[in-house]
Amino acid sequence: MFRQTKTVLQKLRHLRLSGQQHAWRLKSSSASERALLHQPGQKIHGFTVKQVVAVPDLFITAVKLTHDKTGAQYLHAARDDSNNLFSVQLRTTPMDNTGVPHILEHTVLCGSERFPCRDPFFKMLNRSLSTFMNAFTASDYTMYPFSTQNGKDFQNLLSVYLDAVFFPCLREQDFWQEGWRLENENPTDSNSPLMFKGVVFNEMKGAFSDNERLYAQHLQNKLYPDHTYSVVSGGEPLAIPDLSWEQLKQFHATHYHPSNARFFTYGDLPLEQHLKQIEEEALSRFNHIDPNTQVPSQPHWSSPREDHVTCGPDALAPDPARQNTLCVSYLLGDITDTFEGLTLSLLSSLMISGPNAPFYKALIEPKIGTDFSSVVGYDGSTKEASFSIGLQGMAEEDLERVKQIISQTINDIITNGFEEERIEALLHKIEIQMKHQSTNFGLALASYIASSWNHDGDPVELLQISDNVSKFRQALKENPRFLQDKVQLYFKENPHSLTLSMSPDEAYLEKQARAEEEKLHKKIQDLSEGDKKEIYEKGLELLEAQNQTQDASCLPALKVSDIAPTIALTAVQMGRAAGVPVQFCEQPTNGLVYFRAMCSLNTLPADLMLYVPLFCSVITQMGCGALDYRQQAQQMDLRTGGMSVSTMIIPDSTQLDAYEQGVVLFSSCLDRNLPHMFQLWTDIFNSPRFDDQERLRVLVMMAAQELANGISNSGHIYAMTRAGRHLTPAGELDETFGGMEQVKFMKRIAEMSDLSQVLRALPRIRRHLLNPDNMRCAVNAAPQKMSRTAEHLDLFMMDIAGKRKGPKPISPNIIERPLDALTQPGSGPSRKLISEPHFQPCQMKTFFPLPFSVNFVSECIRTVPFIHQDYASLCILARMMTAKFLHGEIREKGGAYGGGARMGGGGLFSFYSYRDPNSTQTLSAFRKGVDWAKSGQFTQQDIDEAKLSVFSAVDSPVAPSGKGMGLFFSGVTDEMKQSHRERLFAVTHSHLVDVAERYLGMGQRTCGVAILGPENETIKKDPSWVVK
Ligand SMILES: [Zn+2]
Repeated sequence: MFRQTKTVLQKLRHLRLSGQQHAWRLKSSSASERALLHQPGQKIHGFTVKQVVAVPDLFITAVKLTHDKTGAQYLHAARDDSNNLFSVQLRTTPMDNTGVPHILEHTVLCGSERFPCRDPFFKMLNRSLSTFMNAFTASDYTMYPFSTQNGKDFQNLLSVYLDAVFFPCLREQDFWQEGWRLENENPTDSNSPLMFKGVVFNEMKGAFSDNERLYAQHLQNKLYPDHTYSVVSGGEPLAIPDLSWEQLKQFHATHYHPSNARFFTYGDLPLEQHLKQIEEEALSRFNHIDPNTQVPSQPHWSSPREDHVTCGPDALAPDPARQNTLCVSYLLGDITDTFEGLTLSLLSSLMISGPNAPFYKALIEPKIGTDFSSVVGYDGSTKEASFSIGLQGMAEEDLERVKQIISQTINDIITNGFEEERIEALLHKIEIQMKHQSTNFGLALASYIASSWNHDGDPVELLQISDNVSKFRQALKENPRFLQDKVQLYFKENPHSLTLSMSPDEAYLEKQARAEEEKLHKKIQDLSEGDKKEIYEKGLELLEAQNQTQDASCLPALKVSDIAPTIALTAVQMGRAAGVPVQFCEQPTNGLVYFRAMCSLNTLPADLMLYVPLFCSVITQMGCGALDYRQQAQQMDLRTGGMSVSTMIIPDSTQLDAYEQGVVLFSSCLDRNLPHMFQLWTDIFNSPRFDDQERLRVLVMMAAQELANGISNSGHIYAMTRAGRHLTPAGELDETFGGMEQVKFMKRIAEMSDLSQVLRALPRIRRHLLNPDNMRCAVNAAPQKMSRTAEHLDLFMMDIAGKRKGPKPISPNIIERPLDALTQPGSGPSRKLISEPHFQPCQMKTFFPLPFSVNFVSECIRTVPFIHQDYASLCILARMMTAKFLHGEIREKGGAYGGGARMGGGGLFSFYSYRDPNSTQTLSAFRKGVDWAKSGQFTQQDIDEAKLSVFSAVDSPVAPSGKGMGLFFSGVTDEMKQSHRERLFAVTHSHLVDVAERYLGMGQRTCGVAILGPENETIKKDPSWVVK
């Protein structure tokens, strides 16, 4: 996997500063208290403790250590969170575009000394209860993190990770498979033409066909032109074939050394045990080296620069004539200066985020472009940070104007500064983020500290967020122009800035293809007949190796008996607010109250359905009551942790042709702000401002652009949604709300010159929501806050829902299910589902030609609903087929980035591939997978592994804010979950063969197929396909 700057940036931006809390109420001897007993200077298993610091805001004790013999650095964050995390990061600073750190990241996972089997991460997914396992290549480090709630599992995974990173086999064959190779197009036919193959080669071709990523890559390369940031750490596709196996091994020897490593552990497991294992299994075998991987400071330019790049045209762009991007990027200070980094990231939010920010007003609202450029704001993922501002989706003639607006806006900020209330709102946001508990807090921390620590910044200082915020307040108090002075220094008077524009080139893809052709030709022309014969034989060898059954028995594994036999129960109470059913779930939420309302769409006329996602995305952003949209945004920031509305489709758990449809309101706030939060909801629904066509246009443009950009990252989701479209009524609605149909609809809306038709649709939708007959609410909060919350909710409901009388449902077939499964049907509150008993599933194959170089392929099969006895077998089957067959066929042999099968809650069994060089061949691989399953050529071990993997998903941690939601939304009770659990345990070999035959076999299945990908001659000629 290759992580781009932007992803890192988003991680930082969206950092949730609190984690999940199985043992949240502090025990007498908590993990963080125990860790406080360590003393600086203390020696533990080859390490010396350097520093012990309590960070009470985050409930953490940080222990910093150094490994005596190698100098390896170590940080432990002790916290009463059972979702323990380990990560090791190496500073990897390539000096060419061959993608050596990225290929190495892949290759170390092809087997190691103690665990000489390929793809141990992937195999461990089936032998562990991990809650997260992955590896990332960033611009200047490579990180290997995992998390798990099980102590034994932690030790198992730690062994595998340490061995992979420090003692990998790095066989030549691994390098061919993961990096690049020349091979006959058909490896068994020596006469078929030679071509480039390799997992990373294909992955990067896919990444480079994403214009947003392409732009981000160019921008970084050109802003830091003098060292490692000038190259593509993931690999530039055509430079990848310049890398040799020898160079790869050399890079490992110099970079994957403890002296160049930073270890991080998090959670409630004891530190001593971690240190002992790391010392014994890895570090004791090394001595100190000087890895010499420091990144020097970028020499500052004496004058600003400009540059231009091209990209492929985007067929999905809202307006084909407006596909230019331009942004100005400024080099800032060193990220190891923690306070300066915090100041600049806050400054960046004030300049850019939300409708009150000066750059939003100056750039977004005049509608010069469709959205900010893909790179925008503060980026602290490089040694020296950067700030970027610009637009995408612009006409060429506007480029000059945008440059002027940017410099004018900077002048305006220096003159006017920021309103005090906006600064308060931003600091309130930080307070909420620190209190909100997410399930992956350890991982968020690891990402948060990674970049600064990588350049020897102090990770403990980074954790002391409150101290830095106080310092920030102090600085503002002492100098009211504090922020303006920073803008003057970093933007006005900074000559190290780059203005980069990007425009589409009709011939771009063709040129890329020709360049690859030439590169290939060059490689081939020097080959002798003997060389070619060798390539053919190596290809056969690789194929044979890939076809061999993999013996994974060397890897440690949990047993099915290590899985808890029963689920932990979640207590909820049912009540009412002004007649509307409310589910109360008491949780340790750390002072926050989480509110949800599910509003049925059963009365909404069919012609409005396509508009619902748009309605959801704009309803909280148009202004309401006395507030215009700017004031509304400000109030939401000041008073809440966010307010959102989204579509919801809930397939019935008992029958395939019934589902519930609605929109969900979600918000959170500190309990002192409850009245404000509910007042905002009241105003949003009672008096929304649907009169501002200009505001709507801005929001529509941004939404359409975001959808279009998302396809290259989530193409498999779109393919699966489309493939399932005609199989169930819920599948149909899924496509309407979130499939390609929605993408095209939004593109059409964005192209309309007059939006009055849309403006008329919005209030029509609103009238159907918040009808007390068709609504239910949920509150998650601490026990002592419940009654106060209930009072406010009652008032809110009386204000908003009490006086409404709803229209009649559209569908004649409404069935009711009790909300509280323990009550008799008809006696308590209920959910109202739409049932389509006469629904006829139909088979369809759809192809969407898109300007990509890779495909996303899916086939969906209609099977059974959640409570059916075969459902559990199909879950296990999907997992087992993925691990034991499809992964090998689609990724290892086919060269796709990923692929597999999964069983969905709506009763659809879906096959998919991700960034796949193949299209119709992958459909054959799906079929072969079914034949394999039917043949029963799998072992008890395979089944047990699939069970572990399924359970690690079933038992993944749930944050306090999300507890009880299965019941609230789907009516799935703890008892139903427990029965499903027991059915999963009970799945046997014969069940699996049986369900494969009965549901997936030829003649048995009702299926749909969809492919998104480049022009495809085979499909074009085949009349059984519908080409869009
Ligand atoms: Zn990768």
